[in-house]
Amino acid sequence: MRGATASAAVRLHSTRDPQGAAVSLDEAILAGLAPDGGLYLPASVPPLPDLEDATDLADLAVRVLAPWWGEAADEVAPLLRDALDFEVPLVPLSGETHLLMLDRGPTSSFKDVGARSMARLAGRALARRGGRATVLVATSGDTGSAVADGFAGIPRVEVALLYPRGMVSDVQERQLITARDNVQAFAVEGDFDDCQRLVKEAFRDPALASLGLTSANSINVGRLLPQMTYYLWAALQLRREQGVARPPVFVVPSGNLGNLTAGLLAERAGMAAGGFVAAHNANDFLAQFLDGRRDASAFPTTIPTLSNAMDVGAPSNFERLRSLFPERLGRHVRALSVSDQDTERSMRRTLDEHTTFVCPHTAVGLHALRTLRGEGLVGPAVVLATAHPAKFPDAVRRATGRPPPEAPGLDASKGAPTSVLPLEPDARALRDALLSRRT
Ligand SMILES: *Cc1c(COP(=O)(O)O)cnc(C)c1O
Repeated sequence: MRGATASAAVRLHSTRDPQGAAVSLDEAILAGLAPDGGLYLPASVPPLPDLEDATDLADLAVRVLAPWWGEAADEVAPLLRDALDFEVPLVPLSGETHLLMLDRGPTSSFKDVGARSMARLAGRALARRGGRATVLVATSGDTGSAVADGFAGIPRVEVALLYPRGMVSDVQERQLITARDNVQAFAVEGDFDDCQRLVKEAFRDPALASLGLTSANSINVGRLLPQMTYYLWAALQLRREQGVARPPVFVVPSGNLGNLTAGLLAERAGMAAGGFVAAHNANDFLAQFLDGRRDASAFPTTIPTLSNAMDVGAPSNFERLRSLFPERLGRHVRALSVSDQDTERSMRRTLDEHTTFVCPHTAVGLHALRTLRGEGLVGPAVVLATAHPAKFPDAVRRATGRPPPEAPGLDASKGAPTSVLPLEPDARALRDALLSRRT
């Protein structure tokens, strides 16, 4: 059946060498960063197949992404189906505003989509190539839990998680440090940028070459590409179930800009969009850059906020955005900054007006949209609900005076055994810890 119709596999280039040698998806997933320090991007994005009768996110993902593996599409399809086995409903909030519920995965954030897919794809790539890999992840909260959960029990893979001690919520931390056989969490005495710097240094450290280090941050295409699919799924639901013909504006609560980049890749593949809004907290490098207030190379330091999964001073995926849109990034993306005070107000208002609890990140997105509506933006909008409010009970209670509803997945980590090691924000300390784990 396939054979003649199998499309050519997608190859990837480093952002720093677009004309250089291309690698396969498997190679890019196992490598994480390109050898020159750049990030991988597809050399070309295949046009979308017909999706009109796609039944769910997994079905859509198989149609869109499996062909990227060319001859191996049939091997990849069941992995995507298994990874994306939860619902991603589009819920009308008010008027033309809709929430895309990305909080129904096992760790209750959108990062389950990328992490679960990448874990299975990396497991397959390793089984074919042979050898083992160590996934090294810097996390400001939700990445770590999604990666730990996604990779738990995947053969040939060890996971090391670095998170900034004291800067993630208790619920997030409990998920991060839940003991899993092939996962070790490290509480770093520093901020998220320290964690991210340690990861980058470890990748360049020849002493760690034998570990087969790879990343599962959104610098990894194995995580990034599956995130394209829920934009397409949202657009399809809006058209098919809500009867909205006009393409929506996508509002993306943003930190490291992986989510936004995935949306822009979906657009490049042919998805109609009314535009993209990057909704930031006080860590608004992109807004400053697009306004001409900030140079592309001068990243600010991280500011702790209520929406801590977006506390990123130096977003890694900015390099991808620049590579995708060297000239006119500002025509595709608007970026707004939302204060903690407005975030709390947004949580309160969303509960009062729509009887809907949202997490602080989603609240940032909703506030950014309200601001744009106030400036005259009309037409359908999809706000990505990036995490379940139950992951941030203190913030929700402070803003609304009420506790958030429970999230089904979160109970599982209650009372489970934990395992965590302290770590100085120092490349040598991490090297020693990683090497001692291996022996
Ligand atoms: C990671 C995260 C974000 C930011 O996503 P990026 O891809 O890093 O821009 C937003 N909201 C939540 C809940 C997250 O966990």
